[in-house]
Amino acid sequence: MSVTVDPDVAAGLDHFRTLVAGQQPVWPDAERLDSVRETLSQVPPLVVPTQLETLTDRLAAAGRGEAFLLQGGDCAETFAEANADRIRNKVRTILQMAVVLTHGASMPVVKMGRMAGQYAKPRSSTEETRDGTTLPAYRGDMVNGHAFTEEARIPDPARLLEGYNISAATLNVVRALTTGGFADLRHVHEWNRGFMTNPAYSRYERTATEIDRAIRFMSACGADFEALRTVEFFVSHEALLLDYERAMTRISSRSGLPYDASGHFLWIGERTRHIDGAHVDFLSRVSNPVGVKLGPTTSADDALALQEKLNPDGVPGRLTFITRMGASRIREALPPLVEKVTAQGGPVTWVTDPMHGNTITSDSGYKTRRLEDVLDEVRGFFEVHRALGSIPGGLHVELTGDDVTEVLGGSEEIDDAGLALRYETLVDPRLNHQQSLEMAFQVAEMLQA
Ligand code: PEP
Ligand code: MN
Repeated sequence: MSVTVDPDVAAGLDHFRTLVAGQQPVWPDAERLDSVRETLSQVPPLVVPTQLETLTDRLAAAGRGEAFLLQGGDCAETFAEANADRIRNKVRTILQMAVVLTHGASMPVVKMGRMAGQYAKPRSSTEETRDGTTLPAYRGDMVNGHAFTEEARIPDPARLLEGYNISAATLNVVRALTTGGFADLRHVHEWNRGFMTNPAYSRYERTATEIDRAIRFMSACGADFEALRTVEFFVSHEALLLDYERAMTRISSRSGLPYDASGHFLWIGERTRHIDGAHVDFLSRVSNPVGVKLGPTTSADDALALQEKLNPDGVPGRLTFITRMGASRIREALPPLVEKVTAQGGPVTWVTDPMHGNTITSDSGYKTRRLEDVLDEVRGFFEVHRALGSIPGGLHVELTGDDVTEVLGGSEEIDDAGLALRYETLVDPRLNHQQSLEMAFQVAEMLQA
């Protein structure tokens, strides 16, 4: 089967090269980069168009208040941690949070990992200084190494290929876990094993018992539970490295339209969302559902222009605005955006990222966040949308399934001294498994209200 590809559409995919692209590495070896791009343009896609259509429908439902998006994962995935245990712990955390939300709010939850491609980071500073030595900043495993040596910090195009391969391997495990029986809702108790000492454990255990009872009741009534066996799970990352995203873009053999085969959902970060910039232009041309992070300095006109450029046809589910204002600012900064965007009429799915506006440095020097602030921003997000009659459509969080100590607070009361125990993130602090569950219980209550 062959479809005709509009030559303008194909040429348009490279238009971004004429525009300003923020946060791109300076690759030292242009020839090597070209050969990697060539290879990536031939590799099998990580996602296919029908999945993107399904996800667009799911996000449209979230935008109407008929579902809720749960998007979570590391700030920066690393190649070294792409192993079975870490991936399983993360997937399990997201599934447990989704169970808590679905059960608490009787709302379908769209499950999405910040996974299988979240390997490139925008940085506020291009350099990092330690003990008087200054080196280029770490930009994510897909660009350079985290080790503080001159050699490690040189961008290496081979890392793009490695990133593709590790994304593929990660996605394979995610798929095995979500369709191979592990995610069966009848195992809802088993996901909690190994967390006995966790204060959120018993609350989750009670939820699981109620779900079990409901399943047994429905089963006794003769219901068919095929739908409980598998879970629909999507992956997402920040579309930062345009050489990678462009090389991973394919033309759908069915529609003749371009789609970025690097992940289901792609977002544009706060630092690269300039309306005339390369990132917005490139993502305006692919058919994946896309998101844009909006920080506290976003004007209502910025939001309108993004909406016009990224979703000119007003397709429900195509565009998600992920607001990350900060707990102290969301109640003032969000309403003008929501009002103007709503008045314009195009559909937008509103999601809160309560992490990135609440980053602080602790007295002992750790980059951290307070769980209280994070929860307060989510509360503010619900308050604003409820007051304006718009829809709070989802939650975007940085989390890990492991017992790290990176975020302050929670019922285990991680304090400044506690951060040192297990602070492992290479970039931003993540909620640990227990803090993630606590958050899910609180958000379920907000959703119900
Ligand atoms: C991120 O999501 O890790 C990030 C850098 O976010 P933002 O673009 O909102 O600052
Ligand atoms: Mn981050």
